[in-house]
Amino acid sequence: MHEMRAESTIGTGELIWHVIRKDLTTSSLCGRFLDPASPAAPLTENEATERYCSSCMTAFVAAVQDQRH
Ligand SMILES: [Zn+2]
Repeated sequence: MHEMRAESTIGTGELIWHVIRKDLTTSSLCGRFLDPASPAAPLTENEATERYCSSCMTAFVAAVQDQRH
């Protein structure tokens, strides 16, 4: 099972969404470790930028396609 998890990047005001596999590990698909005990804070009005981790998206699409075969 996959889940999106946000990581805030300190200083840039960006929030980056990674994909994790809940059944396997707390590491994201791109290999980045995201501490489940400290989720990113919600966006404030000053942090308007959100984007998706391209490495996670690529791995996620590949994983979903694998499941369909
Ligand atoms: Zn990622």
